[in-house]
Amino acid sequence: NHRIVLDNRPQGEATARNFKMVELPLPELKDGEVLVCHHFLSLDPYMRGRMNESKSYAVPQPLGEVMIGGTVGEVVDSRHPKFKAGDQVVGMGGWQEYSVVDANVIGALRKVDTTHVPLSHYLGAVGMPGVTAWYGLVKIINPKAGETVTVSAASGAVGSAYGALAKARGCRVVGIAGGKDKCDYVVNELGFDACIDYKEHKDYLSLSKALREACPNGIDGHFENVGGMVLDAVMLRTNAFARIAVCGMIAGYDGAPLPMSNPALILVNRMKIEGFIVSEHMEVWPEALQELGTLVGTGKLRPRESVAQGLAAAPEAFLGLLKGKNFGKQLVKLV
Ligand code: NDP
Repeated sequence: NHRIVLDNRPQGEATARNFKMVELPLPELKDGEVLVCHHFLSLDPYMRGRMNESKSYAVPQPLGEVMIGGTVGEVVDSRHPKFKAGDQVVGMGGWQEYSVVDANVIGALRKVDTTHVPLSHYLGAVGMPGVTAWYGLVKIINPKAGETVTVSAASGAVGSAYGALAKARGCRVVGIAGGKDKCDYVVNELGFDACIDYKEHKDYLSLSKALREACPNGIDGHFENVGGMVLDAVMLRTNAFARIAVCGMIAGYDGAPLPMSNPALILVNRMKIEGFIVSEHMEVWPEALQELGTLVGTGKLRPRESVAQGLAAAPEAFLGLLKGKNFGKQLVKLV
């Protein structure tokens, strides 16, 4: 069983040298355990935070141990009555080819139905990133039909799901993404009303002007994935009583500072700004997954994926994700 471990912690930017591939024999299954062969591994921005020593909302990734990560795959052997060989499952198997899972731990392994939803989407639109979009939109922004809502990193795993969920609620949805190809995709294939390429703007004032054109009635709700210049630009266009769901600050994950230019707007516009961690809200997952599964199953949400081939490709694909090289949900295909 090949696996990728965290070998040493990044000093500043993360590099491929922080990771190491190792090989270990698979242990014998004990009662209650299930052996899963991973088909896809999920790469997610949160993994960057775990690579640091400092305490965040989650404990750091231990050195020398398999990198944490969501996985989908197939059960190959089981000593648990609820799982049998051939079951398709989603879990947190990590950056490795196989995992042995104690299936008695609640939520450790979940069977999924691939009749209408391809297996890989359970790591994206119909998985953790989709629920993230759902939570921020429904529980924090809580938009009314006709309101204007925005999202940064719009073409990504979270952003694309957000667009479909907001359209389903009758909102005007405007995305912000890096590059013309991503923006074209956001409008033409994801059905956003508009998308702004932040890379065409040298500062937040210029980006904010473009937002004024795309959001003539101002911004009622915003879902932040990036931070920095993007958040500054959005804040300038917010309406009174705007709600901002703070989901991610990816522009700062490698250590860049993220100052806020106009914090007084929080007061002037009586804004609600709320950060959240999706894994702390397990109570919404069933309802959110149900809606997301229907959107994908009926073709209303057609998420795009960037697929790296083979476990050895995981570190470079992950570093690329932190630089916007992915286009849609970043996965690693193992089988
Ligand atoms: P994406 O699929 O959106 O990929 C990340 C994207 O972020 C890149 O494609 C790129 O898009 C953008 N990006 C990367 N670096 C920068 C940068 N320096 N400046 C601006 N944009 C950058 O990832 P996800 O959808 O998986 O995650 C989106 C966000 O949601 C992340 O911030 C993540 O940490 C957060 N998240 C938070 C959760 C929570 O519980 N709070 C749960 C899940 C995700 P572009 O090319 O358009 O710039």
